[in-house]
Amino acid sequence: MSLPLAASRYLYATDNAVRDAICLSIDANFRLVQWWGNVSVLSGVTPSVGEDARDILPLLYGMDLAEPATIRFANVNDAHVFHVHLFRDGDENYVLCIPADDEKARTTELQQVANEVRLLNAQQQRLVQELEEARSELETKRADAQRASMVKSRFIASISHEFRTPLTSVIGYTELLLNESGQNSDVLAHAKAISRSARHLLSMVDNILDQARIEEGNIAIRIAPLNVRQVTDDITTMLAPLAAEKFIGFGAFVDAKVPRVISTDEVRLRQILVNLVGNAIKFTDAGEVNLEITWAQDKLIVVISDTGPGIPEDQQLLIFDAFHRVNDLDGKRGTGLGLNITARLVELLGGSIELESQPGVGSRFELVLKAPESQAAVAADNIYGERKVMGKSRKHAQRILIAEDDPDLTELLGLFLTRGGYELMMAEDGEQAVKTALKEQPDLVLMDVNMPQMDGLSAARELRKKGFSQPILALTASLSVNDRDQAFTWGCDGYLVKPISMAELLSSVERHLHERG
Ligand code: ADP
Repeated sequence: MSLPLAASRYLYATDNAVRDAICLSIDANFRLVQWWGNVSVLSGVTPSVGEDARDILPLLYGMDLAEPATIRFANVNDAHVFHVHLFRDGDENYVLCIPADDEKARTTELQQVANEVRLLNAQQQRLVQELEEARSELETKRADAQRASMVKSRFIASISHEFRTPLTSVIGYTELLLNESGQNSDVLAHAKAISRSARHLLSMVDNILDQARIEEGNIAIRIAPLNVRQVTDDITTMLAPLAAEKFIGFGAFVDAKVPRVISTDEVRLRQILVNLVGNAIKFTDAGEVNLEITWAQDKLIVVISDTGPGIPEDQQLLIFDAFHRVNDLDGKRGTGLGLNITARLVELLGGSIELESQPGVGSRFELVLKAPESQAAVAADNIYGERKVMGKSRKHAQRILIAEDDPDLTELLGLFLTRGGYELMMAEDGEQAVKTALKEQPDLVLMDVNMPQMDGLSAARELRKKGFSQPILALTASLSVNDRDQAFTWGCDGYLVKPISMAELLSSVERHLHERG
C-alpha cells in the first residue's frame, strides 16, 4: 500500500527513502485512525482502528503531538530499528517509521572502525611518546658521553704534560750523569738503566696520548717537505745504540731513487719508523735489523726486517689491535699500542702496511706511503732541533732567559746552557718573562708553553707586540700540529719538545743565535 500524500511529502522534504516505510495516522488521543505499510512488523500483530497507537509503539508515551519530533534508531519490538518521525499535516497527526536496520548495521560497523582507529591512534601516541622518551634518554646519554670524553681528553693532555716535564728532568740529569761518570762503570751502568726506563716510560705516555687522540679523531696531519735521508740518519743515531747494546747488527739504507725532498708529515713518519724499528730491535736477540727505503711512483716504500722470534700466523692480524701482545715474549715490556697507532698513522698518511713473518726466522714489515717529490727547500730547523751545529763563530757570554715554572727543569736547562758558555737569567711565569725580557734584552728566550699567570705563547705574543726582536724558542710537552702552528703564529722562531737533550738544546740555541747574529 502506498503512503498517504502527507507522508510522501514529508519524506521528500526530509530527504528520506520511501521503501518499506510504515505510516500511522492517529487522533489527538493517540487512537489509531489508519495505517499504511506492513504495520505488523511494529508489534508482531495487525492492529485495529481505534486501538491506542502507544500499545503498538510504546516510545510514543509522553510525547506531545503538537510538537514534531524525530527519534533516530529507535529499537522497535527488539527486532528492528526505525527512524520514527512524528509530524502534523493540517489537522492530522502522523507517525512515520522508516526502516533503519541497514543504516544501523553500517553505523555500527563505522562505529567499530572508528573505535579501532581511536585505539590505534592511542597506541600510536603511546609509541611516539615512548620513542620520544627513548630519544631524549639517548640524547642525555650522548651528551654525558661527550662530556666524559672531553674530560678524558683534557685529563690525558694534562697528564701527558705532567709526566713529560719530570721525565725531562730525569732524562736530562741522567744524561749529565752519563757524561760525568767517566770510567766508573757501576755509575755508568746505573745511569744507563735509569735512562732506558725513563725513555720507556716516555714512549708509553706518548702512546697512550696518541691512542686517545686517534680514538677521538683528533689527530691532525701536516704534510710538508722533508729530507728522508736526514730523518733516517736521526733514527739511526737514536736507535743504533740500542742494537749495539744487544750485540745485534743494524743497517739503514736509502735508495738513490728516493728524491732529495718529498712531502709527508715528518712527525708521524718518524713516529712510525721509531715504532717499527724500535720493535724489531726490542724483539730480536740475535742476528740483525735492517731498514730499507726506496721510492717509486710518488710513493715511499719502507721495509723493516729482523731476524727475531717472528710472529705466528694466527697472531699476525691481531697484533695490530690495541693492547694486543704475543704472550710468550718474556721480559719484553710494552703496552701493545705501538702497532695499532702505527697502522692508523699509516692510514692517515694515505698508505698501507703489510707483514710477513715466520716464527723462528724473523719478521718483515712493508709500508707504502704517499710521498710525492717536492721542489721546496727543506727548512733547516724542525721540532727536533738543529741537525748540524752551524760553525762556532758566536761571541761568548750571550745571555739567555729561561722562562720555566718547574724549578728542576730550570736548573737542568741552566746546567746545559752554562756548559755551552751562556749567561743566564730566569723567569717563573709568563708575566715575569715579559718584564725581564723587555728590561734585560736577552739574546734569546727559552719559553715554556705551560706556565702560571700568563702562558708562554701569550707571553711570546706580548713580547712581539712590544717590539722584542730576539729569537724565542718554545718549550712544549705537546706534539700536536695545532700547538706547533700556534707557536709560530704567536711569534716563536722554533720550539723544542720535552724531553730535550743537551745536544739538541745547545745546537738549536746556537743556530738561532747564529742566524740573528
Ligand atoms: P708493544 O711493543 O708495546 O708490545 P706493539 O703494538 O708495538 O706493542 O706490538 C704488539 C705485539 O706484536 C708485541 O707485543 C709483539 O708480541 C709483536 N711484535 C711486534 N713487532 C714484532 C717484531 N718485530 N718481532 C716479533 N714480534 C713483534
